[in-house]
Amino acid sequence: MFTPNLISRLKKAYQICLLTGYEMSFESGAPQIHGKEHIWNNYNLAKLATLNAMQNNTEEFWEGFHAIRKSLQNIKPNLGHYSLVDLESMFKKFYLITLNEYNLHRVAGSKRLAELNGNITRSRCTQCDFNRNEEIQNYNLTGIPKCPKCGSMLRPDIVLLDEKIQQRTIDAVNQAAATSEVFISIGVSNAPKAIENLPFVAKGNGAYFLEINTHNTESAAHANEFVKGECGKILPHLVTALTDS
Ligand SMILES: [Zn+2]
Repeated sequence: MFTPNLISRLKKAYQICLLTGYEMSFESGAPQIHGKEHIWNNYNLAKLATLNAMQNNTEEFWEGFHAIRKSLQNIKPNLGHYSLVDLESMFKKFYLITLNEYNLHRVAGSKRLAELNGNITRSRCTQCDFNRNEEIQNYNLTGIPKCPKCGSMLRPDIVLLDEKIQQRTIDAVNQAAATSEVFISIGVSNAPKAIENLPFVAKGNGAYFLEINTHNTESAAHANEFVKGECGKILPHLVTALTDS
């Protein structure tokens, strides 16, 4: 499944960088806020998950996000998420960058994680610096949640569809990609413009570029190695290849 060249590069690597895309959480059954399936349980996510909806249809916006958070009680990390936790322990420097906002990497146990689109299980105040992690397993919030510190409205701590990823976050992940010896793109499609060049930044600076995806993508054509398949099925084989022999 993987070339000896890749395995040897990984075994020697001090620092690696991985980017996980939406496919990773869709495989676990998460709603597709950033995906192609915009209708979820009668909610039009393309309209709901926007700053515009938050400001102008606030009740409907929060009703939808409460429903998504409750649905996460039944969505679990898959073998791909757990394999990345295994990989994290094998490298001195390990940068896991994710487009997923569903907290599944953290639930699985990933620690060194950059969440480009934020985290849907976290709330933050629209006015002050208050934020909190919601207990999804006992989630029972309804209505429009208010900040306990200043009384303003809380919002889900994610990058909404009509918002942009912060520049300092983009700069940090570019730096991680540029200094890594191996770059692995996992289940990424429709990446936001700001980070679509990340594999090329890595490869341009000498990294070996592996792409894992269920379908051929534009970037896969430029990868040193492309493995076709689902993240949850492929990643455990990568862990095995690195621990055997
Ligand atoms: Zn506040």
